[in-house]
Amino acid sequence: MKNTFLCPKCSSRHIVRVPDNPGRHASGNNIYTSSLTLFKKVPVIRYVCCGCGYVENWVEQPGQLAEIGRTFG
Ligand SMILES: [Zn+2]
Repeated sequence: MKNTFLCPKCSSRHIVRVPDNPGRHASGNNIYTSSLTLFKKVPVIRYVCCGCGYVENWVEQPGQLAEIGRTFG
């Protein structure tokens, strides 16, 4: 869905990218690789199908994927 902009559930092409809002203190979708601070917050970008409401979550930065791998792997 991120790459095709085509909903896998309903085949709608009305897909919108919803970025993390850095101004929000406790945005629910982020992944924290440190329990101490918000410094190591990894934003999770959402892609929402406006046809059926299906949502995908993506970590978009390769460096952040590596960080998650180190923390939880
Ligand atoms: Zn859909």
